[in-house]
Amino acid sequence: MKKLDKCYDCGGRMVVKNAPFKVKGILVGNFPAMVCTKCKAVFYDEDMSRKVTKVTKEKGLWGLESTTRVNKIGDSLGVIINKKIIDFLGLKKGELVKVYPEGRNKIIIEI
Ligand SMILES: [Zn+2]
Repeated sequence: MKKLDKCYDCGGRMVVKNAPFKVKGILVGNFPAMVCTKCKAVFYDEDMSRKVTKVTKEKGLWGLESTTRVNKIGDSLGVIINKKIIDFLGLKKGELVKVYPEGRNKIIIEI
């Protein structure tokens, strides 16, 4: 592993340790990284970044985020959920979901 002397963000001292990597709140795994003792920034070297990406893809957590347009359906509005997210969640047509805002710029869809 290529070691960093100082943190890119704050100049703090770096230590090698296993750092948890999460995607959308789901733990992908713990991977060796350089972690800043001051601001807790985590840096993976090139090889480890490749490994983290590989494991993320294997676990089906890669590319779950998408941009979609809001459509008009009668008097309501609809948002398309893509196949990747459907497969990941095991969501089925006709299933009941709970939809509610969280703050003013986020919508939660709970299954
Ligand atoms: Zn730092």
